[in-house]
Amino acid sequence: MKTRPPDFEIHGHTIKPGQRKRFEIPVAKLPTQTTASLPVEVIHGKTAGNVLWLSAAIHGDELNGIEVIRRVVDQISAKTLRGTIVAVPIVNVFGFLQHTRYLPDRRDLNRSFPGSKRGSLAGRLARLFMDEIVSPATHGIDLHTGSLGRTNLPQIRADLDNAETRRCARAFGAPLTLHAKERSGSLRAAASQKGRPVLLFEGGSVHRFEEEVIRAGTRGVLGVMAAIDMIAQPLEEPGDSEIYRRSKWARARKSGLFRSSVQLGDRVEKGQKLGLVADVFGREGVHVKASATGMVIGLALRPLVNQGDALINIAFEPEPGQQLPAQEAGDRLELP
Ligand SMILES: [Zn+2]
Repeated sequence: MKTRPPDFEIHGHTIKPGQRKRFEIPVAKLPTQTTASLPVEVIHGKTAGNVLWLSAAIHGDELNGIEVIRRVVDQISAKTLRGTIVAVPIVNVFGFLQHTRYLPDRRDLNRSFPGSKRGSLAGRLARLFMDEIVSPATHGIDLHTGSLGRTNLPQIRADLDNAETRRCARAFGAPLTLHAKERSGSLRAAASQKGRPVLLFEGGSVHRFEEEVIRAGTRGVLGVMAAIDMIAQPLEEPGDSEIYRRSKWARARKSGLFRSSVQLGDRVEKGQKLGLVADVFGREGVHVKASATGMVIGLALRPLVNQGDALINIAFEPEPGQQLPAQEAGDRLELP
């Protein structure tokens, strides 16, 4: 039986079943006294169901997710939706305006959750997001790209040991799904601690709209919405996602100019030559070799590299019983 839900209340706004509403939640004033605020769109279905939040640009320079959210909300009708969508396409409005990942004081918003009302600007924004967006939600999808100077294969990172999160990750159907423990201070960790299954989507690079990534993201979000019974199954079945439990960067063994010979999605064997770091004339080259047998999921885009720089990220599946060294601090650094 279809149940008509109560009105949806958020930050003083009331959205009736079968309605959609766009509004802004003020965060803080800029030094010019202009108010910086979160743009929000709520679509409140006529029938009761799950409440899914969609967020992008927690890192202000990561834009693909903004366009994913626009395309998703464009396709959803409040008349047929079961449950509620709360879409926040630009979370870090400060970084967004400056084309940067960070807040004006160089803090990383995705290391500032769950935040506090009297903390730094990042902490206050994190707390506002937890109170207004995460609290009423049952599920969440947070959209990212690779960090500056890198690009990522469209992928889901999620806690695959949680059954509901794993089910959603499957339904997203990204080319690759990577099991990733939550990182302390991240939105994903703070929301998981409150019992919300969260998917993190990563695809492409900063500062641009990349069509293939945006399509994978849009298809994936709609797939999850179907799996949690918010919309009918999309016409397109979710793609088969390859699941891996670990990832490791191959690093530059010397400084120089990096020429890659692999692409995102390539399968590689441990020890395989993936590229060359050499001097400006291509001499004195040192090969970059695959650190594991697996799939290329991240690539450095800048040819100028220093010794130790992360160049090629490889997802791999440990052999049963294989003892793995703890994930290096540097590897964790590359996580969203
Ligand atoms: Zn990010």
